[in-house]
Amino acid sequence: MRAAAGCFSTPLIAALLLLAGCSVAATPSEPPVLAPPETEAAIPPEETATCFGILKQGGLIICPAEPGSLVEFGETKLIAGETGTAQYGLPRTMPAEIDVRRGGVSIPLAIAPREDELRVVPGFDCDKIDARTPAQKAHAADSWTKKEAGFASLNTGRGALDGFILPADAPPSSPFGPTRKYVGVSKTSGKPCESMSVHQGFDLAAPVGTPVIAPADGIVTLADPDLYYEGGTIFLDHGHGLLSVFMHLSAVDVAAGDEVKRGDLIAKTGNTGRSTGPHLHWAVKWRNPDTENRGGDYYIDPALLLDLPVKD
Ligand SMILES: [Zn+2]
Repeated sequence: MRAAAGCFSTPLIAALLLLAGCSVAATPSEPPVLAPPETEAAIPPEETATCFGILKQGGLIICPAEPGSLVEFGETKLIAGETGTAQYGLPRTMPAEIDVRRGGVSIPLAIAPREDELRVVPGFDCDKIDARTPAQKAHAADSWTKKEAGFASLNTGRGALDGFILPADAPPSSPFGPTRKYVGVSKTSGKPCESMSVHQGFDLAAPVGTPVIAPADGIVTLADPDLYYEGGTIFLDHGHGLLSVFMHLSAVDVAAGDEVKRGDLIAKTGNTGRSTGPHLHWAVKWRNPDTENRGGDYYIDPALLLDLPVKD
């Protein structure tokens, strides 16, 4: 039986959770931390292996389980991989509780809410027509095809099991999650219009040419110096459905199919594609590895992954 203090993470680990009917100790600004069960008897011996991760919207849960066995996260059914874990990305807008089931045992877990900013930006030009040339349209369509292929390529790997490190030595400039709602009125029809966008990545204010390193081991599924919107782009598949996206790169130093280790140099930051200034856009998509339907995939918060324990 662990001491209660063992439930609490170091300051660097935002929430080390222990999955076993734990009580929730939450402060308004911190994700909840789960305490161990009052009695081990409540949990069958094979279920005492602890799940861990970041119990917050946009976070991630990693649950040890026999390879090939079923682990259910709410409605999502995952098969534990060769690593002996199932890893589930928590949607940014998920409910405040999730049931995790292993071996017939169901445990409800509280999920801390995000407090992402919603900013309404007036003056949106409703009459703006996207007058791109045929060449630009063809470039964008070709980029779309390449991205679809990169997202569809699911590899095995350790996922987030060994933790993540920052991919560039630069300060954050824009967090994951805020929504911008652009509103305006059409000059021709007089009708209001709006456009919404959610920032799906974590931006680092890196000058052009800053080295980009792999935040975790992975296999490159896309490496292209010139996608239409994204510019120089790399997709890095970490396994368990987790895939890092790096955009606006000035140099791409890997090729599709390359296997890289955490810390390996993969690129240089830049200001390519439809970028508003030099920075690295790092996004992490969670794709359900047990379905071929890529439509249900979504981005999680890369900054939260940095709070996972980093193992050698
Ligand atoms: Zn960004």
